[in-house]
Formats: sequence, C-alpha cells, structure tokens
Amino acid sequence: MPNKEMLLIPGPTPVIDEIYEALSGETRAHTDPRFVESFKNGLKMTKEMFNTDGEVFVFAGSGTLAMEMAIVNTVAPGEKILVVSHGYFGDRFIQLAQAFGIEVEALQAEWGKHIDPAVVEAKLNEGNYKAVTVTHVDTSTGVAADLEALVPVVKKAGALFILDGVCATAAVEEDMSKEYGQEDYKIDVVLTGSQKAIGVPPGLGIVAFGPKALEARESLVKIPAYYCDIKNWLPIMQNPSKYYATPPVNMLYGYEKGMEIVMAEGLDNRYKRHAALGKAVRAALGVYGMKALASEDVAAPTLSCIIYPEGVDDAQFRKSLADKGMVVAGALASLAGKAFRIGHMGNTTDEMFVKAVTLIGEALKEMGLKADIDAAVSEFKKVFQG
Ligand SMILES: *Cc1c(COP(=O)(O)O)cnc(C)c1O
Repeated sequence: MPNKEMLLIPGPTPVIDEIYEALSGETRAHTDPRFVESFKNGLKMTKEMFNTDGEVFVFAGSGTLAMEMAIVNTVAPGEKILVVSHGYFGDRFIQLAQAFGIEVEALQAEWGKHIDPAVVEAKLNEGNYKAVTVTHVDTSTGVAADLEALVPVVKKAGALFILDGVCATAAVEEDMSKEYGQEDYKIDVVLTGSQKAIGVPPGLGIVAFGPKALEARESLVKIPAYYCDIKNWLPIMQNPSKYYATPPVNMLYGYEKGMEIVMAEGLDNRYKRHAALGKAVRAALGVYGMKALASEDVAAPTLSCIIYPEGVDDAQFRKSLADKGMVVAGALASLAGKAFRIGHMGNTTDEMFVKAVTLIGEALKEMGLKADIDAAVSEFKKVFQG
C-alpha cells in the first residue's frame, strides 16, 4: 500500500511499506511467544539506540504521555524543576509539571534562538532543582538544543537531565552512556514517540531511564501515577511475557520493523543523513527567498520552520501543495500565517525532497512569485552531497 501523499509535517512522518506490512500481522495473544519475541527485539534495539545501561519502556500512548512518565517518576510534588524551552513543546513541560504540583521555573528562548547556557547555569545556582527538561528539537521553531553545552551545566548543578527527544530520536545522537566532559555527566532520561524520526505511526510512547533516574524513582517510594508508574512496567520490560496492561500488539510489530530499519541504516549514517537533509532543504528553499526561523548554527536536522517571503498566503500555499500531494504544517503561535513547518525526518529520502522543492517552486509560481526551480533543486543536491 504505497503512500498516496508525501507527509512532510513534523510528525507523523511517512510510513514505508515494510512497516505497514508488519503492522498488519496477525493479532496474537500478548503472551504468545512469537509476539513476546517481537516485543523483546524492539526493546533490545531501543536500548542499543540510547546506549543505556538503565531501562527502556515502550507502551501505548503518545509523546506527551512519555513526557509525563519521565517527570512523575523522577520529580515529586513540591520539588522543583527548571524548564529550558526553545518553543511550544518546551513550554508543555510547564503545564505538565504544574498539573502534578511540581514547582516550575522556566527559561524561555526567543523563538528561533538558543538559551545561553550561562543563563541556565546562573538559574541553577539559585539552587534546589531536582531536574531540568530540555527539548532536543523544538517542533515549533526547528531549533536543536546544544547538548554539549547544556548537559555539563545541568549535571554540575546536580540535577537530572531529562531530554524530550520526540522530534529527534533516531535522527540526532542521544547517547546515554556518553560522558559530556566528566565521567558522570550523562543524559538521565530520554523520552520519545513512535511517529516522528522513528517513522512508525503514532501510538507508542518510549522512555529510557538511566541509572540515576531509576534511583530517583526508587527514592520517591510512592508517586501520583498508576499507568505511568515505571515500577509497574519494569517486570514487563524485563520479561514481556508477563502482564500488566495489554500491550498494543500490532503497533509493536510495526515498532520492531521500524527499529530494524533504523539499526540497518546504522545510527551514524542516519544522523548524517538527517543533518544533510536539513541543511539541503533550507539551502534549496533559500533560493526561493524563503528563510528558516532558526539560523544554521542552531537549526535542527529533523524539521524546519520556514518564513514566507513577501506575498505568500499561508492557507493558499499549503492548499496548493496539498492538491499536488504534499502536506506541510502551519506555524504555531505568533508565527501562524507567517511561516510553515516542513519535516525532513524518518524514512524520507533525498528524492522526496527534490520533489518537495520542485512542488514548492510550482506553488510559488502559481501565486505569481518568481521561483527558479532548477537552481533550487541543484542547490539541494549540492548541499545534500556535501
Ligand atoms: C510531537 C512532540 C511532542 C508531543 O508528542 P505527541 O505524540 O503529540 O503527544 C512532544 N515534544 C516534541 C518535541 C514533539 O515534537
């Protein structure tokens, strides 16, 4: 069942045939050894991807539930977190934490810009932060966080480093064994969803807890959660033939296949491909006078927020692309109507973006704007090939 449309939004991303086929496998008992094997295999590859000696959890839910699982298992009501936000999804942690009576301080970047790590450091020096949340790629702005700068600052302050990888995992390195400057300066939690750079339909939350985060859960004793309590899931993740709550059997067939595709490409190759795609898409659209909100030094490999040149009507532009079989997303908040967002992640190919660049050029021309499609396509190819 080949895709009829090019779904180039910030997720879900295009699902390829092999994954559709896996999803449509026979629905078996969640205790059937053949299913258990598939679930185990998916978990094993997840652990490899995050390179963690902690534990990984894969469950029915979306990225937001994964955010919740990360927070409620590490921070108690009344404790304090710092939210380092580069946009809309960073801000989501503020409301989430407040819903659980967690104290929140937030540093919110101007959209399209980074927060200065020195500002984070100064804030953390005020003391008593249990954890810091960082959004790896903020899907509203196309800004990628600088882990090299932020992890050491957070770990030096003794806080847990919680990374929202929903728009980054499997496309940008998230290595939980990596030491950022010192032996114990590591990412403690990474959370994600199935539908973005992993390339599986929406439906799964994925969270990895490193050793320090697991210790944090132990020391909390009781937490305000039941479905989301990792202690209820731990026996299942260690032995998926056990029952806690029925796993989404077919989604997990799809997930196993999706992770096989990620690992077969190779993590490093996948990271390089995404970095090249991001640069090439932005460079090609630049030929049309379209500028990314985020400058190249902070721009994400997975998704770009592109500001329209003068004279483009957002609704008309996106409708024109949709009529040609290509779907992009509108921008959020104060950028709504002024920019669009294009995902370049997951199981997408450079050929798809040659087509996307062409279709965007055609849409601009229909609106009476100038667009040198040949120049944009050759810019894409040149930058993609490095
Ligand atoms: C999409 C996204 C979320 C929310 O995930 P849902 O699956 O929609 O709940 C959270 N954080 C980031 C960075 C995202 O891109």
